[in-house]
Amino acid sequence: MKNYLILHIPHSSTDLGEITYSLSEEKLKEELFYSTDWFTDELFDFELCTRIVFNKSRLYIDVERFNDERETMGSIGRGIKYTRTFYNELLKKNVDYSIEPYIRHHEELECAVEQSLSVFEKIYIIDCHAFNDDIQPNTPDICIGFNATNCDVQAITNVEKIFQDHGYTVEKNYPYSGSIIPDLYVEHPNVFTMMIEINKRVYMANEEFVPHKGQGFENIKNVIFEALKSIQHQ
Ligand SMILES: [Zn+2]
Repeated sequence: MKNYLILHIPHSSTDLGEITYSLSEEKLKEELFYSTDWFTDELFDFELCTRIVFNKSRLYIDVERFNDERETMGSIGRGIKYTRTFYNELLKKNVDYSIEPYIRHHEELECAVEQSLSVFEKIYIIDCHAFNDDIQPNTPDICIGFNATNCDVQAITNVEKIFQDHGYTVEKNYPYSGSIIPDLYVEHPNVFTMMIEINKRVYMANEEFVPHKGQGFENIKNVIFEALKSIQHQ
């Protein structure tokens, strides 16, 4: 085995932390329903890999935001600590809590890359997400995101083909683009990153604000496994 996979799963937790939210219980439940990448910690399962799963909800801390001036979402209350909901309602007033879990999470990711680089030839960080069907018009079943750097075009083409061969529609960098890479490894010739986002309509039952697996769950889980395997054997 030449290639090693690190699965980064940032948005599967529903743990809201010990803080006060400004929404009613009902509204908070809706916001959590909309914001959580449900079951991604189950969908992205693989042998012989490292999984870095963030154990707090993104409504508490979003580890996919930058902790410096590169982060533009902070100006609309959607930086590391969201203060506004997706629809711009007040989510929380007091953000006086530590971002220690954010720091630890990123250290863990960086450390995983460093350690595996000493053993394996190539490292692939797979950024594992799900998205809401209504986020943009004509959303695909699968979105593959990548950056200008740390991008293995052949691995992306293979993954795209596997999903398509199983009847899923795929877009690249739409409706989301990019994929996580620790600063230390930007442009590193042996560290690659690829985001795989699954449209929730593919695997969730269509019930109001109650997360349930739908009929497509097992199928997409198997296809994801196949896609990850193709990257490992790239
Ligand atoms: Zn996500």
